[in-house]
Amino acid sequence: MPSSSSSSLHDAFRPSVVLPLLDVPSFDALSAVLREASGGGGDSFLACPIDLIDVNVVDLIDVGDHKNDVLSHPRDSRDEVIASLSMYAKDKSQFHEPPAHLPIFVVAPNTIQGVADVIRACRKHQKTLGCVVVVRGAGTGVEGGAVPYQKRAVVLSTRNLNEISICDAADNAAVVGAGVLKNELNKYLKKYNVFFGPDPSSNPSIGGMISTSGSGMSTLRYGTTRENVLALTVVTPAGDIIETRRPTRKNATGYNLTHLYIGGEGTLGVVCRAVVRVRPILPIRCGGVLTFPTVALACQTAVQVSQLADTDLTAIVRCEMLNEEGVKCTNEVFGTTLDVVPTMFVELQGSDVSRVEEQWRTLVRIAKGSLKQTYAGDGDKLDELWDARRGCYIAASKYRKLVADKEGVPRAGPPIDNVLLTDVCVPLSELADVVDATETDFKVANVPCVMCCHISDGNFHCCVPCNATGAPREIGHVQELEERLIERALQRRGTVSGEHGVGIGKREFIVREHGDAHIGVQKSIKKAMDPTSLLNPGKVLFEENASNTSNSRL
Ligand SMILES: Cc1cc2nc3c(=O)[nH]c(=O)nc-3n(C[C@H](O)[C@H](O)[C@H](O)COP(=O)(O)OP(=O)(O)OC[C@H]3O[C@@H](n4cnc5c(N)ncnc54)[C@H](O)[C@@H]3O)c2cc1C
Repeated sequence: MPSSSSSSLHDAFRPSVVLPLLDVPSFDALSAVLREASGGGGDSFLACPIDLIDVNVVDLIDVGDHKNDVLSHPRDSRDEVIASLSMYAKDKSQFHEPPAHLPIFVVAPNTIQGVADVIRACRKHQKTLGCVVVVRGAGTGVEGGAVPYQKRAVVLSTRNLNEISICDAADNAAVVGAGVLKNELNKYLKKYNVFFGPDPSSNPSIGGMISTSGSGMSTLRYGTTRENVLALTVVTPAGDIIETRRPTRKNATGYNLTHLYIGGEGTLGVVCRAVVRVRPILPIRCGGVLTFPTVALACQTAVQVSQLADTDLTAIVRCEMLNEEGVKCTNEVFGTTLDVVPTMFVELQGSDVSRVEEQWRTLVRIAKGSLKQTYAGDGDKLDELWDARRGCYIAASKYRKLVADKEGVPRAGPPIDNVLLTDVCVPLSELADVVDATETDFKVANVPCVMCCHISDGNFHCCVPCNATGAPREIGHVQELEERLIERALQRRGTVSGEHGVGIGKREFIVREHGDAHIGVQKSIKKAMDPTSLLNPGKVLFEENASNTSNSRL
């Protein structure tokens, strides 16, 4: 059994914490409670083999007999457990240091009381075991929030918190378990001719969307997740079950706990259930594609769209943009035949065809600098384009290989690239300049940059194909470009994360954005709500004396 107080190169994540030697009776006692909370085990409970506790995932392939890529080729039940545990040691982030550790337990309670039991038991054994709790939704996060970088993490999966029910029609609301995926929720709601407004390009859990304050492609019309949550049921770090407020239209009953937990990234409490707003599905869907000679002109049009969204363009639901590289990449990977220029995709919805069409004409009128405007009367046809737009991240990962093959240029490195995904958001008045300067910066550096933009929100992502292993110069280069993008956004009063959250990837950047005094307030909130730092320590905010993890990205 490894002596866990010994330090390794990768202990930097909790430098101020000296872990106790593993207390086996404590481990067994916690194991029993978690197994029970999971409804008796099955695939809702996993325990780490005791000799692999405190081994990080990178070192795991060198442990004992497991030299043959045990993570991808399970050979017996022990290996299956390790392979399953390792699935809970990653999310969709790709460039973070230090490496993750295998969780000591994975538990997926199927009741809120079960969640409370897990939290109480973990708290009880926190001192003797040195354990922490990392809450996990669908694991689609891109900033490492759900990854157990911490040693001795109990990963609490919300996937069995899967209730859904619709409220009285007058309430325009639904009650949804934290583990329900966005697409599942909308499938259920369709029966009632309503849907949940926020629409990330991914398919996350509702708890994950709430905890990262996520949004996506329909923010212009329906707002972010924050604006669509009426109330939450949360398990606190003490194991108490609380409701953040009553799900009324108005509520003036003290501090707004709902909004503290939204964007809390699993550091303040476990979101177990939400009452969310639902919206009517409108019968008419149409849309179109507008092309532009430059990203700046496309941005200027998007700003006007946003300004008119409450007056002349009330039917606009989505307004997204791909830059030239993004279109090239989409054509290459998804077989679309879009003109290779900056392109805006819009969707309009309403109850009356003529009014919706009239708004399309208004849009064309304001898109003065556009090259071409293609109308799609049948909104369902747009879905292929939206699927392609959603697929940008995957497309970016395959892009360089496809282009190299097409051009017959032999290419070193893996066929699928890693993708660095940035997420800045700037005031609309600064949008055109910032997007333009960013694209130019990447072009000058000769680094392909797929820009996929929730453009009418001032929020844009650069998907940069890049190899995480074996190409330090490439990584360094991309890191410099990202740094410059962050600096550019900050100088223009923007934010370093519009929707992906902080995790560990953006901790350093939020200090730059907010300054020490502001971060001090955030730290006191964490301290007050989670005094023993049980929940996801080291995420969002650096732990004390953790400056040696500042270079956490790339
Ligand atoms: C291809 C791709 C496209 C994406 N597009 C978008 C987009 O358009 N818009 C957008 O906003 N994001 C997008 N994302 C990012 C990601 O999907 C979101 O951050 C999402 O909201 C994360 O939800 P999840 O269920 O996967 O959470 P996880 O990744 O499992 O967890 C994320 C964080 O939330 C915490 N958490 C999860 N559930 C709970 C809970 N119940 N209680 C407390 N804490 C919890 C975790 O501890 C972690 O800190 C995209 C990601 C990918 C890979």
